[in-house]
Formats: sequence, structure tokens, C-alpha cells
Amino acid sequence: MNLKKMTELDIKGKKVLIRTDLNVPIKNGVIQSDARIISALPTIELAIQKKAKVIVMSHLGRPEEGCYTKKYSLLPIFEYLKKKLKRNKIYFSNDINKIKINEGEVLLLENVRFNVGELKNDENLSKKYANLCDIFVMDAFGSAHRKQSSTYGIGKFANIACAGPLLISEINTLKKALKNPQRPMVAIVGGAKVSTKFNVLNKLAQISDTIIVGGGIANTFLAIDYNIGKSLHEPEFISKAKKLRDKYNNIIIPIDSRVGKNFCHTEKCIIKLPCEIEKNEEIMDFGDKTIKKIIKILQKSKTILWNGPVGVFEFPNFRKGTEMIAKTIAQNNGFSIAGGGDTISVIDMFKIKSKISYISTGGGAFLKFIEGKKLPAIKMLEKKF
Ligand code: AMP
Repeated sequence: MNLKKMTELDIKGKKVLIRTDLNVPIKNGVIQSDARIISALPTIELAIQKKAKVIVMSHLGRPEEGCYTKKYSLLPIFEYLKKKLKRNKIYFSNDINKIKINEGEVLLLENVRFNVGELKNDENLSKKYANLCDIFVMDAFGSAHRKQSSTYGIGKFANIACAGPLLISEINTLKKALKNPQRPMVAIVGGAKVSTKFNVLNKLAQISDTIIVGGGIANTFLAIDYNIGKSLHEPEFISKAKKLRDKYNNIIIPIDSRVGKNFCHTEKCIIKLPCEIEKNEEIMDFGDKTIKKIIKILQKSKTILWNGPVGVFEFPNFRKGTEMIAKTIAQNNGFSIAGGGDTISVIDMFKIKSKISYISTGGGAFLKFIEGKKLPAIKMLEKKF
């Protein structure tokens, strides 16, 4: 992979636009997990130290393009950065047409997803971003699988486009981990984004010894044979799930589940077998028999890849499966990689950060990379080499 690297360029006095991934969970203006900001900071600090004119951009959540909403503003992140970079001047702006900045100063731009055309990779917007800088640095591994203006389109118009240190380190670590993994290797895929995660299962079934499915993905497997009531799943993927289940015998599907009637924080849980689930119930976590089974598998494994909580860990009564997975991985002495926004939140919640060998900032990008797909942002950077 031939990429121009930020660390090899002379960036002094240059306007350097860094696309970071500062997409952190924020509740009522309070940052819930700063893990992604912490990962992005060294690149920003390096650019400041090298006396570049540092412009930083990121997305946050999924706002409607063209509509400013406070909920999706990067303002809380700006306040956070101000405290972290207190020796440097740092500004915040939502104007992508003109920029005034001096050497060693930082300008954080407002959420790129407020800009019309960002998601569709609009050429005019990409050009506008490119005009802001002398050098574009792609450092958002978590967004490298997206073909959008700030991650991909900008590359066509930027004079120089290079990879940031975080992007390089993410790629190298994942490559190394996947090259000769210690066996047995177990992959855990949970969460709610069923359609985007389903495609990676085929590859994972080939490269790992066991796959543990949770969340909406597990529910889609259960829906092959059972009526699973209101449970989150993707009906269009049931036949794909059946093909996978019949082709590979290493996919662990829950044998019991914690179910509830209402999707709410105080909902009580009942443990049920898949055949017992009623129309008005939904699966929100693993049951105890499933937890016992997967703990045994995880205890024996030497490499663990983890993306996505296996239940609605935000609700106290539907947290146990995810909690036990987190704690069992923490106690395992093998190599563990975890990736994705909510997975990082789980790691923070159970305070096991130091026990995970590598935490990737990417969720979708992490899975796409495992799948063996070249990420669009990396393709773009290769073109600019
Ligand atoms: P993802 O971004 O795909 O990793 O999804 C994370 C989200 O999946 C979390 O907010 C969880 O609450 C949610 N989740 C996990 N399991 C379930 C489930 N069985 N039903 C509904 N949501 C779930």
C-alpha cells in the first residue's frame, strides 16, 4: 500500500486540513466517551508542533444535511479541545468559504454533515474543502469506508492528500493481527446495523474458528426458524443468514434470550427460549445459557475480534451478555481487537480499556477492512501517492 504520509511532509506554515473522526457519543451536551478524541489528538498535536496552520474537520451523528441542530454541533468537542490544547489558540467556525489562521493555531470546523452534498460526495463541496488547504490529511479511519466529500471527494481536488499517523497505525495493526492470528480465533459481531455488518460474516466464517453473533444479527439468524415477535432484525437478510448457517458450522446462534415488551430503560427482562417468544415481545440480550456457552468459547480463544454490543447494553436489565463478553475478554491473555463507536462505549462503561490489546476507532471501516475490501479513502490516497 503506497501512501503519502503526513509525517514525511514539510507542513510548516502550510494550511493542513485534517479529517478526523470525532464522532463521540454526546448526551445533553456532555461527551460520554472521549476515546475517539484521545485517538485523534496526537495527529493534531503533531501538526501544531510542526507549526502548520491546522484545520480540523469531522462528522458527528446523522443530522439532516443543510439543517443546523444543536444536538449535532461539534461545540462540546470544541470546548473539550480548548481544555486539552490550552497552550494553543483554537477557534471554531461553520464557515467553509474563508479561513483565517496562523501557524500553530487550530481551527475546528462545524460538523461536515451539516454541509449539503457531504454524504453524496458532491464535487462542489469537495472542491470547497480542497480550497481550504495546501495539504489534506485523511486520519479518520472510522470514516475511511465512506465515499463522501470530506473523506474521499476532496482527494480529487486537493493539491496534496496524505495519510495521517492514526490511519497508518490502524491499517498496520489490523493487517498484522489478521496475517497470522493465534488460534483459536473468535469473532463477535453484534449491534443494530444489521445490513452493513452482514456482508462481513462470510469472510469472518472463513478466517475465524468461531463467530458469535449478537444483537440484530443474531435475531436475523433466529428468524430463520422462529417467530421472534418485535425483535430488531432484517427480514431481507434471513435467506442469507440461512445460507451462512448451512454452509458454515462455526456460527454460534443464541439458544436463549432476554426479552421485554417495551424498548425502555426500566423494562424488566424475562429469559426465554426462541420458540417461546410472543408477538409483543422483543429480544434485547442473550439469555444465561447462551452467556455460559460463549464464555467457555472466549476463555479458550487466543485471538478475539469484537464489533458491536450483543444486547441493548444501555438498559440495565439487558446488559449482562455484553458485560460478560467485555469482562471475559478483559481476563483473556490472548490478543484482542475491538472496534466501533458503541463497542468503545461498552469498553469505557466496564473500564476494561487497558485490557484490550488494540482498540480501533473504526466500526464499519474495521469490518470492511477485515472483509478484505479496499476502503475508498485508502484508494483515493493511493491515487494521490
Ligand atoms: P452498532 O452501531 O451496529 O454497533 O449498534 C449498537 C447498538 O445496537 C446499541 O445502541 C445497542 O443498544 C443496539 N442493540 C444491540 N442489540 C440489540 C437488540 N437485540 N435490539 C435492539 N438494539 C440492539
